[in-house]
Amino acid sequence: MSRILNFSAGPSMLPVEVLEKAAKEMLDYKGSGMSVMEMSHRTSSYEQIQEDAKSTFKELLGLDDKYEILFLQGGGHTQFAMVPLNLLNKNEKADYLITGSWAQKAYEEAKRYADVKILASSSDKNFTYIPKILEDEIRSDAKFIYICTNNTIYGTRIRPEIVDKISLPIVADMSSNILSEEYDMNKFDLVFAGAQKNIGPSGVTLVIVKKDLVGNAQEITPTMLNYQTHLEKDSMYNTPPCYNIYISGLVAQWVKENGGVKEMEKRNKEKANLIYDFIDNSKIFQNPIETKDRSLMNVVFVTGNKDLDLKFVKEAKEKGFENLKGHRSVGGMRASIYNAMPVEGVEKLVEFMKEFEVANR
Ligand SMILES: *Cc1c(COP(=O)(O)O)cnc(C)c1O
Repeated sequence: MSRILNFSAGPSMLPVEVLEKAAKEMLDYKGSGMSVMEMSHRTSSYEQIQEDAKSTFKELLGLDDKYEILFLQGGGHTQFAMVPLNLLNKNEKADYLITGSWAQKAYEEAKRYADVKILASSSDKNFTYIPKILEDEIRSDAKFIYICTNNTIYGTRIRPEIVDKISLPIVADMSSNILSEEYDMNKFDLVFAGAQKNIGPSGVTLVIVKKDLVGNAQEITPTMLNYQTHLEKDSMYNTPPCYNIYISGLVAQWVKENGGVKEMEKRNKEKANLIYDFIDNSKIFQNPIETKDRSLMNVVFVTGNKDLDLKFVKEAKEKGFENLKGHRSVGGMRASIYNAMPVEGVEKLVEFMKEFEVANR
C-alpha cells in the first residue's frame, strides 16, 4: 500500500488512524454484524454514534447549552439560503463582508430573501487581504454581520482577534477552518461548515446555531430548509447521512485524542509557518497575500510564470504530492494543509520546493 501526500482543498485527506478504525469496523460495527452504512438510523446503535459525534464536537468547540449542533445535507451552498430564510424576515437587514467567492455567493443568495448589504469587499485586489470592518458603516438595525473566516480559494483568513472585536452578532462560514484554531464561539449566532475540508467526508454539513434564534423562519421556507425541523428532531427528521456522520465523529474523537483545537492550532501554525517562511525567502516563489491575513489552512503561491507553475505541479505529482494546482480562478499553486496533514508532510513539500528552486533559478 502506498499513500500519497494529498494537498486537496476538499474533499481532503483524513487522519490515517480514522481510516484504519473505519476499515476495522467496516464489516462488523461493534458486534452488530453489519456496517454503519447498513444500519437503520432508527436503531439505538446508530443513535449512539450520532449522539457521541455531537457531544464530541460540542466539547471541542466549547459550546454551552445555548447552542445546538445540527448535521444537515446540501453543503455550504444550501446554508447560503438557509441563513437568510431562517434568521431574517424579508425586510430585515444583515451586512456581508465579501472576502472571496464563497462570501460573494452567500450574499447573492441572501439578496433574494432579505435586505442585505455589502459592508466591505477586497475584490479590488483579487481578495488578497481582509478588508477592515468599520463598525460605524454597519447599519444600526442590521441583525448580524456575515463573514467567511477562511477563504479557501484565495488563502486568507479572518483572525480570531478580528472576530473578538466585532460587537454585533456574527454568522460565519467556517467550512475550511473550523477546528483549526481557537475562536470564541460565543461571538457567533450561527456557524456552518461543510465536512469535506476539516471534518470528514463530503455529504454532511455541520451547523452550530443559537437555539433561541430558531423558529422564526420566513413563511416560504421549505420544511427541509427550516432549522426548526432539524432542531426538533435532533437531525433525524429524515434519514441523515449516517456514514458521513460516523466518520466525522471519528475525526472529532481523533482531534480530541490529539489535544483538541488548541493543539491543532499549534500544529497548524507550525505547518503554515514552514511554508510561508520558505516562500518569503525564496527567489522563485511568492505568496500574494497580506502577511497578517494569511490562511493557516490554504497556502497559495505562484512563481509568476505560468509555465513554471505547471512544471512545478507536474513534477510534484510525480513525487507523490497531489492536488497542488491552484483554484482555476486564481491559478498558480495551493497547498491545503488541514488538521489531518502531518507536519512531516509539509516538511517534505518544502524540501521538494527547495529542490525545485535550485533546479529552476
Ligand atoms: C468549499 C466551501 C464552500 C462550498 O461548500 P459545498 O459544500 O461544496 O457547498 C463554501 N464555503 C467555503 C469557505 C468553502 O471552502
